Amino acid sequence: MANEVCFRTLHLDKPWSIETYKENGGYEVWEKIVRENTPPEEIINELKTSALRGRGGAGFPTGLKWSFMPRGIPGDKYIVCNSDEGEPGTFKDRDILRYNPHQLIEGMAIAAYTMGANAGYNYIRGEFWEPFERFENALKEARAAGYIGKNILGKGMDFDIHAHLGAGAYVCGEETALIESIEGKKGQPRFKPPFPASYGLYGRPTTINNTETLSSVPMILANSGQWFLELGKPNNGGTKIFSVSGHVNKPGNYEISMGTPFSELLEMAGGMRDGHTLKAVIPGGSSTPVLPGDVMMDVTMDYDGIAKAGSMLGAGSVIVMDETTCMVKVLARIAHFYFEESCGQCTPCREGTGWLSRMVHRIEHGEGRPEDIDRLVDVAHKIEGRTICALGDAAAMPVTSFIKHYREEFEYHIKHKRCMVGSH
Ligand code: SF4
Repeated sequence: MANEVCFRTLHLDKPWSIETYKENGGYEVWEKIVRENTPPEEIINELKTSALRGRGGAGFPTGLKWSFMPRGIPGDKYIVCNSDEGEPGTFKDRDILRYNPHQLIEGMAIAAYTMGANAGYNYIRGEFWEPFERFENALKEARAAGYIGKNILGKGMDFDIHAHLGAGAYVCGEETALIESIEGKKGQPRFKPPFPASYGLYGRPTTINNTETLSSVPMILANSGQWFLELGKPNNGGTKIFSVSGHVNKPGNYEISMGTPFSELLEMAGGMRDGHTLKAVIPGGSSTPVLPGDVMMDVTMDYDGIAKAGSMLGAGSVIVMDETTCMVKVLARIAHFYFEESCGQCTPCREGTGWLSRMVHRIEHGEGRPEDIDRLVDVAHKIEGRTICALGDAAAMPVTSFIKHYREEFEYHIKHKRCMVGSH
């Protein structure tokens, strides 16, 4: 991996245990906070300076989010980590759980201290048996060392973390569906407002952050918010792990500074597989708009750079496609995924995702009608912004972007009843 700055044991060829973490400076920040009773405002200010933004997809400033948690009210408050990582193309959080679990625990403990939470939950994707067990073992080590649990480091503070395994629904990555799922209910998103900061888990104030976001916190406080900011660029602080997949020679997770040109990331990933050329990139996971390869070559990998080019950084899941790729087929796969994962509460999403999936499927299989292309765009627009959660938009955005950039492939499929790329 490049840089190897913010994740202490992720890149090491050593056990993921507490000993390795501590050898690399782990838990020093947490010990200092507990020992010195650091004012929570100081921590929030460092995070604001750092320009750390949510690494799960939304990119919301973390310091600001933490400042929303109500202070001085009695009763339980919760910190929840979202390790439900289900966006197609994303595979970074599972590696943090596998190889760097203590940094997440330290980040969650700091978050709980800062926001006055007395319990933490880590909601881990249902299929992640191995990362779940690793995290559970790390929790045992942290408890035994006195970093979490009762009477933390002998200072009379109590805070414990519970790992919760999901049941395989993509929509549980949406924060309110995740809360419902922890509560033992069907994982369906809630209407907002109220937002979780005022009415979250078990009806109590709750802050939910992504695994990578929380894991970034100890290094920010160890080195300063300014240090983290300068690793990246203004408004886009730090390094970030990008999951690169698709037609590259070395797919994998790469930690790079925010603002690194995409061309450099592609080079780190070994370049295009031999003899092939770059056709398209989905820069942030399957829900983000696709961009043509030539556009991507001028893009920097940060929230603002990718937004300027017409897409989103999302969870940093970079799906690279070469000239052999049929864009109709790719969209058919994506559309079917969102149709399958719709929870069915909202009519535009429940019905619209089915329309999208069926129409793209028939175009792919040579049964499309000329009017289907405009109808696809129309249906996508009628889903956007009309649903309870962002899954509706996630289903719609790929459709409009694929047709915007690759309309001729859809037209060719309809007219010639086969693929213009040749292999389908
Ligand atoms: Fe469920 Fe889709 Fe509505 Fe989200 S947008 S609540 S997934 S039906």
